[in-house]
Order: sequence, then structure tokens, then C-alpha cells
Amino acid sequence: MAVLVLADADLGRLTPATARIVAGAAELGPVDLLVDAAAAEEARSLAGVHRVLAAALPATADALAQLLAVLAEPYTHIVAAANASGRDVIPRLAALLDIQPVTDITAILGPTRFERPIYAGNATETVSDGQAKHVLSLRASAFAATVGENSAVVSNISPEVASATEVIAEVRTQSERPELSTAQIVVSGGIPLGDRFALVEDLAGKLGAAVGATRALVDAGHAPNDLQVGQTGKIVAPDLYVGLGISGALQHLAGIQGAKAIFAINTDAEAPLMKIADVALVADLFEAVPAVIAELDRLGIKR
Ligand SMILES: Cc1cc2nc3c(=O)[nH]c(=O)nc-3n(C[C@H](O)[C@H](O)[C@H](O)COP(=O)(O)OP(=O)(O)OC[C@H]3O[C@@H](n4cnc5c(N)ncnc54)[C@H](O)[C@@H]3O)c2cc1C
Repeated sequence: MAVLVLADADLGRLTPATARIVAGAAELGPVDLLVDAAAAEEARSLAGVHRVLAAALPATADALAQLLAVLAEPYTHIVAAANASGRDVIPRLAALLDIQPVTDITAILGPTRFERPIYAGNATETVSDGQAKHVLSLRASAFAATVGENSAVVSNISPEVASATEVIAEVRTQSERPELSTAQIVVSGGIPLGDRFALVEDLAGKLGAAVGATRALVDAGHAPNDLQVGQTGKIVAPDLYVGLGISGALQHLAGIQGAKAIFAINTDAEAPLMKIADVALVADLFEAVPAVIAELDRLGIKR
């Protein structure tokens, strides 16, 4: 078994997702980690990494998939995070290698047996892909990050790949909030917030939390698309998920199944999110949230 993992990195730093998918991939065999050269030093100190392959990684998913295809030969498993970039790269790679990919894996049961959620997270299927080579995406939130020291060997590589695509412009969102997918606390807002989404940000600010939103609120133009939590948004697995005015549609719940505790505020006690919440407060959020913030202030709680 030999595993090639595509590191998840941003601005030359590994994201927290990398240590998590390395932990999952290490269950399959020794891990070679493909990283952009800028993150090579950080990558070699990551526990669970056997060897770092450092390259000037191309910016487009098309070229990245071709690079992985060039490197694929000695590996039994090729792994990426099941996030926006992994979802772009893994199907392209699978097509290039003529392999059926297995995506959104939440548990590794063996070299050819994997668990993944289906029906918007309402069921879990066990997949055995029966192939000699496996192209996989792992849900980072389902795996605990590797811990410990390491000083893996770094091999600098410079394979040639041609790509028909190029990045014309990149627009970066600025936020002081933690990254949504790996945050310990997430405060999300639903459609009743409307143009008062700042209330979600205020509470998140007090709790040191990441900010999320339902698709209804995003589609209505009151929250940016990258904050959407759910089946077609981001998957989160915080210690605490706070849902404000969120009904808890199946597609939303699919994104929060890994949450360890849920606090929901809703005027409707029968809303599905209220039914599964550890603490469910039946109240108008426009009264309850300022009251919660005032109480946090009174207690001097600020993370
Ligand atoms: C293919 C597909 C994919 C989808 N993917 C996603 C996804 O990834 N993420 C996602 O979120 N949705 C997704 N959806 C949409 C999803 O089905 C729901 O429509 C959406 O999640 C509902 O958002 P909401 O909870 O904000 O709104 P609603 O369902 O309208 O709920 C609003 C809630 O707010 C409560 N409320 C109203 N006023 C107040 C108040 N003043 N104070 C407190 N509570 C109040 C109401 O009682 C209600 O429970 C998807 C749908 C489809 C078909």
C-alpha cells in the first residue's frame, strides 16, 4: 500500500484539513504528501507523513489533476480533502485514470472498503470499489488530526504538465473569523435574519466562532455563498453549533452531523433543528440574541 495525499494549503500554509486527511490516509499505508514548495517545511513536520513531494503546484484543478495523474503510477491510493478544491480535482483525476472515485469518505474500514454518507447524510453506505488503484476524497471533519513531531524527507519534483486552463483573477474574501470547516464553534443564521445578518456576526465575535448561513439566506443575497452550511455548502463539525432562525431542513442538517452540541433559537418548537438540539430556546431571535450577547458581556465572556 502506498498513498499519495494532495495537501490542502492556502497562501503557502497548510490548512487544518491537511493534518486530518493525512491521519485518515495513514490508515491505508505510508503517506507521501504533495505540497506546494512554499509549504514544504511545514509539511515535513506533520506527523504521519512519510515523504514530502514539493512542487510548484499549478493553480487550476485541471492542471493539478494532470500532475497527480503523472505521479499516480506507484501509488495504490490517491487522496484529497472533500472540500471545494478536492471536489474539483478528484473527479478530473479519476477520469484521467479511468477509475471510479469514492468521495466524501467518513471512515476507512480497510484498503478497499470505505464509509460515506448518502441521502443528505440520512444513511451511511459502505463502499468496496474493487479496483487496483483508488481515487478518494476524505471529509476532513471526520478524522482527528495527526499529532506529534516529524521530520519527513522532502523530495523536490518538477513534472511537466500542460493545461488548457489558466487563472485570470483571484478575489480573496477577508475575514478575521476562524475557517468555517474546521472551527470549534459555528454560529449560523437562517432566512429570518434577512439584512440583519450582522447579529450573527456579533454573537460569533463574542464566542470566537466562525459564521455560517443557510442556503435560503445565501440565495436571498444576505450572506456570501462561501458561508453556506449544508449538503451543497460546507460541512462543519464544531464542538458547538449555534443555529439562529434555522428550520433544520435535511440539506442543512447534512452539513452539521459532526457537531458535538447544538444550541438552536427558533420561534417554532417543532422545527427539526429544535428537535435535535441539545439546548433549544423557543424565542424570537431578535430579542434572544441581543440578550445572550448582553449576558456574555455581563459575565465578561469573550473568546
Ligand atoms: C438540492 C438542494 C440542496 C440544498 N442545499 C442546502 C444547503 O447546503 N444548506 C442549506 O442550508 N439549505 C440547503 N437547501 C435548502 C433547504 O432545503 C432549506 O430550504 C433551507 O435550509 C431553509 O433555510 P432556513 O432554515 O433559513 O429557512 P426556513 O426553512 O424558512 O426556516 C426559517 C426558520 O426560522 C424560524 N423563524 C422565523 N422567524 C423567527 C424569529 N424571529 N426568531 C427565531 N426563529 C424564527 C422559523 O420558525 C423557521 O423554522 C437545499 C435544497 C435543495 C433542494
